[in-house]
Amino acid sequence: MQARRVSELSALQNEILESVAKGVPFPTVADTLCRRAEALAPGACCTIASIDSGGLIHPVAGPSLPQTYGEAIEGISIGPRVGSCGTAAYLGTPVEVTDIATDPLWEGFTALVLPLGLKACWSSPIKSAEGRVVGTFAFYYRETRGPSDLERQLVDTCVHLCSIAIERDEDSRRLKHLAYHDQLTGLSNRYAFNEHVADNMASPQQSFGLLMLDIDNMKLVNDSMGHSVGDAMIREVGHRLASAGKEITVYRLGGDEFAVICARCSDTENLATLARQLLREMEKPFECDGNFIMLQITIGGVLSKMDGTSADVLRQNADLALYHAKQAARGDYIHFEHGLRTSIQCRTEQIALLDKALDEGRVFAHFQPVICIRRAKIIGVEALARIRTDEGDIISAGAFSLGLSDSKNAFRLTSRMLDQIASNMRAWMDEGLELRHVALNLSTVDFQRGNLEDRLRAPFEAYGVPLRYLQIEVTENVLMNQEVASRVARLREQGMQVALDDFGTGFASLSHLKDFPLDYIKIDKSFIDNMLSDVACGAIVEALISVAQKMQIGIVAEGIESAEQATRLLEIGCPLGQGYHYFRPVDGDTIATLLRSFDDAADQQANVKSSQRKRA
Ligand code: C2E
Ligand code: CA
Ligand code: CA
Repeated sequence: MQARRVSELSALQNEILESVAKGVPFPTVADTLCRRAEALAPGACCTIASIDSGGLIHPVAGPSLPQTYGEAIEGISIGPRVGSCGTAAYLGTPVEVTDIATDPLWEGFTALVLPLGLKACWSSPIKSAEGRVVGTFAFYYRETRGPSDLERQLVDTCVHLCSIAIERDEDSRRLKHLAYHDQLTGLSNRYAFNEHVADNMASPQQSFGLLMLDIDNMKLVNDSMGHSVGDAMIREVGHRLASAGKEITVYRLGGDEFAVICARCSDTENLATLARQLLREMEKPFECDGNFIMLQITIGGVLSKMDGTSADVLRQNADLALYHAKQAARGDYIHFEHGLRTSIQCRTEQIALLDKALDEGRVFAHFQPVICIRRAKIIGVEALARIRTDEGDIISAGAFSLGLSDSKNAFRLTSRMLDQIASNMRAWMDEGLELRHVALNLSTVDFQRGNLEDRLRAPFEAYGVPLRYLQIEVTENVLMNQEVASRVARLREQGMQVALDDFGTGFASLSHLKDFPLDYIKIDKSFIDNMLSDVACGAIVEALISVAQKMQIGIVAEGIESAEQATRLLEIGCPLGQGYHYFRPVDGDTIATLLRSFDDAADQQANVKSSQRKRA
């Protein structure tokens, strides 16, 4: 008898240990264990529950009891009088209740078990290697009795097996958590993200929105304040994203990149609403070690049902949308469009074109005259970048302007243009040719690298040209950045002139005219194009001219292409203009020739007038 018992127990033990070693999930192992134990102890109903670190009971297996029983005790807290299991877990010692109906430990719980015909319950705590109670193993009986010696032996074995299985289960859960979570933020990681996207894409009825996000000023913070502040910033962004709503799942994909999946977002409109909400979450400055840091993110978005046929394509398109947003709309949101792929390709090609031309010294300046409309006289010039091809053709800036969004290119181009501007200006001055200014176009990236003030000054000093001849052209988008705006104001204090370029294409805000000290406004070509055919357009141009005059700001109409436009502009009091009607951009020597011919014409006119006077 005893020998048979030992071999039964060791067979049970081997079976369970093998399952644990194979990584069979704990609930399955627990279920098998209960069934085997019940077979060896006729009349007993076996249950296994786990106890979490907060002391709550979670039934795991109980094959002979109805499911409703497990559901009824799920989440109950352990305690000194909480049935047999709750009390055993609480005390850390086995609890034998031979008559549930009368035992005080079961007071308040009898209604759960007596109707099932259960009369006695003996529960033993399952402990981890460190002695923490991690579960309970119980035998219920349909008669009022305690355990037999054989049952005690069986339960000893089962409790030991459970403790191994539970620990193994916790280990694998910990490993899984580590594998699927990011250590810095505690958010799900790229691995979890890839699985989630793949799973959701596999079930076509599961439509969802996906946002890719990236922190804009991460590198700056890391470089200037150190990596611990950078880490705190990543944690804060993760935290703000995760607390933005219950229906979203936030992932940290690595570095400063996050993803958000929203099952609720089924169209572009509500995905955009979510993106805008996330942008707003970043508005409040983040205080870290006494520093106030602005958290700025850029977002690209896709919808599973229309922007990708597979998980891979969907993710790629979300990346493209983010990449495009980083170039075209930093700090904002852009939804994926199918044309993006080609526009990104264009940018890459233009960057390479300009980079190569700069390397090979094929970049030079053309100059477009700025005209006093009334006297049809050149008063200044705007420098515009050109590339000479190997075949001798000339490429205009418009054809490689995307190449300027690369900061290295922009930096090098500005240096090249400055040198050309200063040397040409020197040559014109040496000939005694008169010009009020030569204008240089600057973009946001020019303000992000190096000391712009010194960079602008150096070539002018080297050629002995006073700085007041230099006019810098910036757009409203550039001025929108407070930091840039104050640097522009400083450049003006140094004696340079400042022109607001392309006015009307950006925010067209009149308050900019008040807030930023300016010398000139350049009305964008699109207004001049339409001012004769579109009454509203004409009215806006007129109003702008009048505002500028009252504020004593110079005003230039850009892209004048016809005599009718010039006439109308003169009628409404626009002093200055620029455009193909007068001159296309030309090289420095041609500018000299033009200026000379104006001087000659003026001399001739003066001679005519003086001889008329003499005759009179
Ligand atoms: P922008 O500053 O608005 O320059 C005016 C552009 O309009 C120039 O094109 C000029 O050739 C063109 N234009 C002038 N008058 C007319 C006209 O009557 N009709 C038409 N259709 N076009 C006219 P471009 O040279 O291709 O330059 C395009 C843009 O590239 C410039 O726009 C400017 O934003 C940028 N850019 C040019 N050179 C530089 C540079 O050296 N540095 C920087 N950062 N940007 C530059
Ligand atoms: Ca310009
Ligand atoms: Ca312009």
